[in-house]
Amino acid sequence: MPSTLVTHLAALHIPVITSALDMQPFLIDWRKRYQGNALAVVQPRTLEQVRQVVQACHARNVAIVPQGGNTGLVGGSVPVAGDTSIVLSLRKLSAVRALDQQNLTITVEAGCTLSQVQDAAAGAGLLFPLSLASEGSCTIGGNLSSNAGGVQVLRYGNARELCLGIEAVMPDGTALHALRGLRKDNTGYALKDLLIGAEGTLGVITAAVMKLFPRPRTQIVAFVALESVEAAVSLLGLAQKRLDSSLTGFELIAQICLDLVSKHFKEASPLPAGSAYYVLLECSDSQEEAVARERFQQVLEEAMELELIQNAAVSASVAQNKAMWRQRELISEAQAAEGTNIKHDISLPVSAIAGFVRANSARLEQAFPGMRLVNFGHLGDGNLHYNVSPPLGMSDSDFLAHQASINKIVYDDVVALSGSISAEHGLGQLKCQEIEHYKSAAELGVMRQIKNALDPKGIMNPGKVLTPR
Ligand SMILES: Cc1cc2nc3c(=O)[nH]c(=O)nc-3n(C[C@H](O)[C@H](O)[C@H](O)COP(=O)(O)OP(=O)(O)OC[C@H]3O[C@@H](n4cnc5c(N)ncnc54)[C@H](O)[C@@H]3O)c2cc1C
Repeated sequence: MPSTLVTHLAALHIPVITSALDMQPFLIDWRKRYQGNALAVVQPRTLEQVRQVVQACHARNVAIVPQGGNTGLVGGSVPVAGDTSIVLSLRKLSAVRALDQQNLTITVEAGCTLSQVQDAAAGAGLLFPLSLASEGSCTIGGNLSSNAGGVQVLRYGNARELCLGIEAVMPDGTALHALRGLRKDNTGYALKDLLIGAEGTLGVITAAVMKLFPRPRTQIVAFVALESVEAAVSLLGLAQKRLDSSLTGFELIAQICLDLVSKHFKEASPLPAGSAYYVLLECSDSQEEAVARERFQQVLEEAMELELIQNAAVSASVAQNKAMWRQRELISEAQAAEGTNIKHDISLPVSAIAGFVRANSARLEQAFPGMRLVNFGHLGDGNLHYNVSPPLGMSDSDFLAHQASINKIVYDDVVALSGSISAEHGLGQLKCQEIEHYKSAAELGVMRQIKNALDPKGIMNPGKVLTPR
């Protein structure tokens, strides 16, 4: 049966890869934690070809693993080891179909990289604000399927909030044409919102209408040093009050993150050092630069008077803005270069974050003396990347043997404070077991009903989000 699928797809002139060597990059995830196998990697070029692939798999009960840029951090985009499936790569579906200057929308195919969409918007003098460190490789289909967040959520929202319409292929091969660029459309169930964040378990996104915004006239970035997470949360409140919607970025960075970046990347530029924490603040304004700069400086001066911050470096040019952001963007790669780590992409009410970090890091240190907490993230959204690296000298396998107990210490506290164990990376293979414990039976029950109704054969990305029953 599988070989008849490959023959069938080849006869339809749909590009298919079957050599083990050529399939390899599609079968291992970015963190190199999950390695699967597949009958083939299929690379359709059009909506019609995606429909034909899904229909053929549906008829033959062959599972489909949709894949965009394969930059996901939870093993969602690669097959589960031992499963028999195809990888459906959307990368060749990469046209910008339309840009509407008056409606402030862009219609793009799922395989467009995020930077391609940003560039198309910039070419029209507009802004597409979704921004992640993986933007050169991740795709808009993957961004929507994982409901990606990134560094501008504070002002513009996550991928879901940026999407107005969707085109998709459902698990039985039905094409869903809902590419509407409407900001208001109350005509029943929001089907696009079911597919967004579904991590490829309910269908394949082939195109989307995304919101665009006017480009800010001025952008200023500051890198400030502080003593504690408490101080960072107070600074966030002050900056929100004074800058309102001009505050577009607020990233927390622990000192260890900067140490890792300068250890692994020679390009790292010198920044204030010697404090426990730093915040990268960004202000984007429609005012002219002198006015925006004065307002921004006033906030920093007030924060200094209130003793919330110890010192601050303020960018003086676009190049300096980029250099400061580069430090933040390199943290994930620096941590990967340092070796194995246990990631926790958690979200909490902002008001609970400082107390959580204080109490939970003490609990972790008591249970695993010498563990290194690599704590950074989108504090303005209540989202931390609260990652744990092994004590220096401990082997990866010895460290990973403690993964379940480390996760339990972190997640029990997160959930006790009404937080979430996945803020923006999704569940994938990594957390589909754990969510069974941390989400209510009623919520999981409704999720299963939706999955069974839309994908009764269970062919869409099995073993991800929900454990098979
Ligand atoms: C250095 C680095 C930094 C990152 N920073 C962030 C960050 O700040 N915020 C954040 O949210 N994430 C971040 N990520 C995670 C990742 O980049 C995002 O989740 C991204 O949105 C994934 O896009 P992708 O195209 O690579 O998707 P993939 O990894 O290919 O797939 C992700 C999931 O979506 C499904 N999928 C992909 N395309 C489709 C489609 N067309 N239709 C249906 N399902 C599909 C896959 O099956 C999988 O479950 C980061 C990753 C790296 C490596």
